[in-house]
Amino acid sequence: MSSRVLTAVAWPYANGPRHIGHVSGFGVPSDVFSRFMRMSGHDVLMVSGTDEHGTPILVQAEKEGLPTRQLADKYNRVIVEDLQGLGLSYDLFTRTTTRNHYRVVQQLFLGLFENGYVVPKTAMGAISPSTGRTLPDRYIEGTCPICGYDGARGDQCDNCGNQLDPVDLINPRSRVNGETPVFVETEHFFLDLPALAGSLGKWLASRTDWRPNVLKFSQNLLEDLRPRAITRDLDWGVPVPLDGWRDQPMKRLYVWFDAVIGYLSASVEWAARTGDPDAWQQWWINPDARGYYFMGKDNIVFHSVIWPGILLGHNGEGDHGGRTGPMGELRLPDELVSSEFLTMSGSKFSTSRGKVIYVGDFLREFGPDALRYFIAVAGPETTDTDFTWEEFVRRTNFELANEWGNLVNRSISMAHKNNGAIPAPTELRDIDHELLSTSRASFDTVGSLLGQNKFKQAISEAMRLAGAANKYLSDTEPWKLKDDTARRDTVLHTALQVVSDTNTLLTPFLPHAAQKVHEALGGTGVWAAQPEIRTVGEDDAPDYPVLMGDYAGEQARWASTPIEVGRPLAKPTPLFTKLDESLGVTGPDWASIAT
Ligand SMILES: [Zn+2]
Repeated sequence: MSSRVLTAVAWPYANGPRHIGHVSGFGVPSDVFSRFMRMSGHDVLMVSGTDEHGTPILVQAEKEGLPTRQLADKYNRVIVEDLQGLGLSYDLFTRTTTRNHYRVVQQLFLGLFENGYVVPKTAMGAISPSTGRTLPDRYIEGTCPICGYDGARGDQCDNCGNQLDPVDLINPRSRVNGETPVFVETEHFFLDLPALAGSLGKWLASRTDWRPNVLKFSQNLLEDLRPRAITRDLDWGVPVPLDGWRDQPMKRLYVWFDAVIGYLSASVEWAARTGDPDAWQQWWINPDARGYYFMGKDNIVFHSVIWPGILLGHNGEGDHGGRTGPMGELRLPDELVSSEFLTMSGSKFSTSRGKVIYVGDFLREFGPDALRYFIAVAGPETTDTDFTWEEFVRRTNFELANEWGNLVNRSISMAHKNNGAIPAPTELRDIDHELLSTSRASFDTVGSLLGQNKFKQAISEAMRLAGAANKYLSDTEPWKLKDDTARRDTVLHTALQVVSDTNTLLTPFLPHAAQKVHEALGGTGVWAAQPEIRTVGEDDAPDYPVLMGDYAGEQARWASTPIEVGRPLAKPTPLFTKLDESLGVTGPDWASIAT
């Protein structure tokens, strides 16, 4: 396996705080993967940011009575704080309203334009008959031609989620004054997907290691590819970088076109911020790098067809041929890691339907690792999965607190009480050898599962080792060995070695707890680095918060590290707090407000 790993994480939308369904799809799995890859010695670049263009941002700003930019600032900050609290180790988590992002999006556009893969076409645009001015898409509503919902907007239907054109609406009317808009011919840019279908098909055919359903779904999309408009009648977004277009206030590149380019622009920004402006190329131009993209299943089309199509067009690799675009010959995705949906009582989390548990609320009440554990062990990895408080309480109490927390606590407590330090082993018996060899073998087993993004199986294997260590303590009963301290020391040494190993295996999943266990075992320094919120600036634009971190320093490695005999041990404090059983029935107090 190569040593450069790009972890490209789907961009959360900045029109409100994110709920636990969002982070179970894009957030936690990508972080577990990245932490594991770094521990295994790879150079990981993990990037994302808030997606801040598009109509939902404008609509929410209107609703809250805020200028658009201020609304984006507000939720960008909320999301940055939530993701930092959850311990997601982004090398850079930025936003799409930066000047850097605008520049990179425009470069990609120009590459596509010069190679003939974006072309201007006449489409029907709405104007207000009373003012004669362009009526932005979001100000038009009517009946959805697909599902019949009466409140559909000119760009999308919130009921069925389909993207629309204003001209498609039945009985269109202006949301400003109710009048019926007039449709006139207007120019928009279209991405010529049919000219890219051949190269996309060839590339998809080479993705033999993808999950068959993802591959089949993507290949089916190629059969009916039509040119897709990439500009909109909007005043919020990236301007079209061409004379005659640049200064038109009502023509902007559309959000889905600019957002996928964020993976690249965030990598470029990261490189500039770390003082080596060309460093991003090692993940994007290097043939030996590998790119892993993490997303919810509703986003697969953007990562298996649209984004690769943009890259192929920019690289000059479609039916029209062309030259390598201004950013160089860019790598297409290697792996798509898509998750299913986390539901609540059988239906999708939805802010609009008032069924939601926000990440921030959850973190304040339960801390990050309980949520990370739940998502890894019981999340929507391969099927839609229902979140229930009952299951959350059961997992936290019986698995995290009883199985893992207790093992750590009682083995360290015994060694602290009897030895005050890590005891030295003497003669190992079969039962000791057996546990230690199971422990060492777990690094390959769990590591191989993590490399394939099988999180549920990986964490279950790691927890199985904790179970084996608990059984070992029950079988050897070190608390009864008062008269055989040599044997007791051997048993405690063995148990502590396996605690240390299990902690390493659980580090990608439970980085906060892992740091504590590392310290409880007498370790010092950083074991699992956490992201920091840094305030950064850009030319003369206002400062904004980003997540960055120093993950390359001396810290946990993916291997069994021998514990150090004689290292002093303090009396441990509980690793996890058990939850009140009644929480499983009622949920927390704030659930009544949120649901
Ligand atoms: Zn609809």
